[in-house]
Amino acid sequence: MDERPLVVVTGASSGIGAAAARAFSAAGHPLLLLARRAGPMEALGLPDTIVEAVDVTDSAAVAAAIGRAEEAYGPVDLLVNNAGMMSLAPVAEQDPQHIQRMFDLNCVAPMRLAQLVLPAMMARRGGTIMNVGSIAGKALYGDHTVYCGTKYALHVMTEGLRRETAAHGVRVMLVAPGMVDTDLLSNTGAGRVLDGYLDYKKSIGGGLAPEDVAEAMLHAYRLPQHVNLREIVVAATVQDS
Ligand code: NDP
Repeated sequence: MDERPLVVVTGASSGIGAAAARAFSAAGHPLLLLARRAGPMEALGLPDTIVEAVDVTDSAAVAAAIGRAEEAYGPVDLLVNNAGMMSLAPVAEQDPQHIQRMFDLNCVAPMRLAQLVLPAMMARRGGTIMNVGSIAGKALYGDHTVYCGTKYALHVMTEGLRRETAAHGVRVMLVAPGMVDTDLLSNTGAGRVLDGYLDYKKSIGGGLAPEDVAEAMLHAYRLPQHVNLREIVVAATVQDS
């Protein structure tokens, strides 16, 4: 069994989650990777890694996956709540299912996953939860009303969770990236909104690479347990908003 503790990454089939999986694996951690598509997670080819194709809004499926991983690698020491969805549109034009799914995935799932690992972390006075928010949880952008709403909610819940668990020695961290070059735009249909986003993204050279965010995550996690880097806002230097 690997001496380093188990790291769980949600949304590890692409973008920031896949980069985080590679970074924590390179640092020697066994992994549990969760997303709906197993293929891209298996294609990462990482050692000591359990891949489970689950929808993270299905808490029972996630709990079962965590149970299997803990049997193999011991207790979860880091949960990276990264899986997320962005669908940009004025609310009047937005797909109602996207509104529901963004809240379920970006807000409810991270809290439900935290509930699955927190009791054991608090009991042993260790462990870290890292929630991936966004600069869209700090400022309101055009056509981002619901997405920003989910990230604002996630930010305040992350801070609440941190306060609740601080005295138990558990670290709760917020990672709030600026623009990152990933597949996140896949739920925003062609047209004015997408064009505007892509224009700005191009103007700042495409934004960060997912690996840049993963490196910041690894840095925060590697600090000693008594040091909590509570909030990381990480964006391309040339991003001015
Ligand atoms: P991607 O679209 O590349 O990745 C999203 C990941 O979430 C995929 O692995 C996807 O896997 C997974 N996912 C989506 N729905 C579900 C679900 N129901 N159950 C399980 N997994 C799911 O985007 P990013 O890497 O950019 O996004 C990662 C996080 O970073 C998100 O929370 C996003 O809001 C945040 N973020 C991104 C920024 C950016 O500019 N890219 C900026 C700021 C924050 P699958 O489809 O296989 O399920």
